[in-house]
Amino acid sequence: MSNWRKKNIVIENSQIKQISEKPIQGGEMIHVPENVYVSPGWIDLHTHAFPKFQPYCSHPDEIGYKTGVTTVVDAGSSGADTIHELYDIANECITNVLAFINISRIGLEVRNELANLDDISFEGINEACKKYPDFIVGMKARMSASVVGSNGIKPLESAREFSTRLHKPLMVHIGSAPPSLEDIVSLLKKGDIITHCFHEKEGNNIFYDGGILKPAVEAAMNRGVYLDVGHGTSSFSFHMARKAKEMDVFFDSISTDIYDQNRKYGPVYNMATTLTKFLALGYDLKEVIRSVTEVPANILHKPILGKLAPGKVADLTFFTIEQAETTLIDSVGNILVSPVRIKPYAVIIGGEYYECE
Ligand SMILES: [Zn+2]
Repeated sequence: MSNWRKKNIVIENSQIKQISEKPIQGGEMIHVPENVYVSPGWIDLHTHAFPKFQPYCSHPDEIGYKTGVTTVVDAGSSGADTIHELYDIANECITNVLAFINISRIGLEVRNELANLDDISFEGINEACKKYPDFIVGMKARMSASVVGSNGIKPLESAREFSTRLHKPLMVHIGSAPPSLEDIVSLLKKGDIITHCFHEKEGNNIFYDGGILKPAVEAAMNRGVYLDVGHGTSSFSFHMARKAKEMDVFFDSISTDIYDQNRKYGPVYNMATTLTKFLALGYDLKEVIRSVTEVPANILHKPILGKLAPGKVADLTFFTIEQAETTLIDSVGNILVSPVRIKPYAVIIGGEYYECE
């Protein structure tokens, strides 16, 4: 990797103070081996980091610093009824935790949290956003048939209104219709996020069967709507990702949609495995790392994160690229073999050093 160079990074008061290629003296030193890369701390934009509700749950540190991820963003596991519990857990964690609050007050206590319109109200979300203005980074709506029941597009119309009133972006999960992908994306504005962008569920993905990008999706991307990977148990297909690459349809952020089940039994496992999949698809390491650092920091409006530069928060991820044949599996059972794999080595979060498992 030609322009990856040996660097010395000075950290003071939880911030990056100086980055130099020349030796630096003084203070407490941490040396890492020559083959270890450093990047800004990895940010996982779509996780389930609220341990309370089975099965879509994980402890933030299990999917966070132990796996090289310095910031996990909970994507709607909790709604207005329980967001204070998630906030309290977040405060006990080593990993930074942020949240997209579910527009349903009950969140993922059930699997069809948008089937009852009475669970969607502005008051609770407004109160939560006032109480936790930095912690809540946006709103989450899971817009697939099994979640919305007979309500169709209505939950997203409410979400649109809340988002506009509170100036917070929407993260919208796409899956099986109804509602149709066209109806969903037509409600999205600049700064909103489509997650599960490379799912392959029939009829409702970003391409027509013939392989053409749907004009409604293209128009949304041109308006500044972001595409997030959100791998998950059933939402990532190599076939779709490959098609996107062939057609120059670029995703913005790589996230996992991780929780205990897909972490332990696959196909997600962890962020490093998800990033390795994009190397195997032919993306270059710099693009892959940007998609888990600088880009999600921009999406989250957290300019203090995502870059190695003086004045930024001292969140760093150290990793190696191992030469080891690795079999990778997507959410529909397709296999890809990579000659290398990304392996987390350690992190620094707010200036503190932690080794990865
Ligand atoms: Zn999810």
